[in-house]
Amino acid sequence: MNQCKKCKSELNGAFCSNCGQAAKLKRIDSQYIISEIGSILNFEKGILFTVKELLINPGQRIKEFITEDRNRLVKPIIFVIICSLVYTLVIQLFHIEDGYIKFEGEKQSTTTLMFSWVQGNYGYANILMGVFIAFWIKVFFKKYDYNFFEIIIILCFVMGIGMLIFSVFAIFEGLTESKIMQIAGITGIAYCTWAIGQFFGKEKKVNYLKAFLAYFLGMFSFNLLIVIVGTLIDLM
Ligand SMILES: [Zn+2]
Repeated sequence: MNQCKKCKSELNGAFCSNCGQAAKLKRIDSQYIISEIGSILNFEKGILFTVKELLINPGQRIKEFITEDRNRLVKPIIFVIICSLVYTLVIQLFHIEDGYIKFEGEKQSTTTLMFSWVQGNYGYANILMGVFIAFWIKVFFKKYDYNFFEIIIILCFVMGIGMLIFSVFAIFEGLTESKIMQIAGITGIAYCTWAIGQFFGKEKKVNYLKAFLAYFLGMFSFNLLIVIVGTLIDLM
């Protein structure tokens, strides 16, 4: 008797009637490779589609991801890690000094070590920072029925695009040797404010102010915590 490899129910025909799994998996060949790369770069789905949609209509698309369809956009945690990786690669390639978070490197204090970890590991650091911003979003938008994890998902998408914005500016700075990373910072924050505000309702102007404050306070409290923890460790 033939059994489905996935759900173990009885097989009749080329596909499982219970879970839809193909009875026989096709061998990996050139076609598979092409279709996998195609699915990543696809403008209908995949990374490029996700980037395009998040630039044009972030509020609506993220809301759809949370409440309706999770297959069109790339998975958000993977997305923010990939975007941060792109950023890290770009600044390493062009040897760009980072203007995103500035710190004075006097001595090798624990605080400066922690900040340099943040700079070297934006993927993870962004998720951590997202937790702080999510807390403030929860505070400012408490009458909306979104839980903490849903807000984290909004931030993964939004901060991912933020990293790509930084990457574009970094490439431009690398090619032209003009100091524009400050403008990148402003553009990144402007995008995040717009996208988060739009998510909670395009029409209400106060949403954008709340989004900005949540973003700002999130960054501030994240950095403050690093300074406090770093200082405490050094004191001990
Ligand atoms: Zn099955």
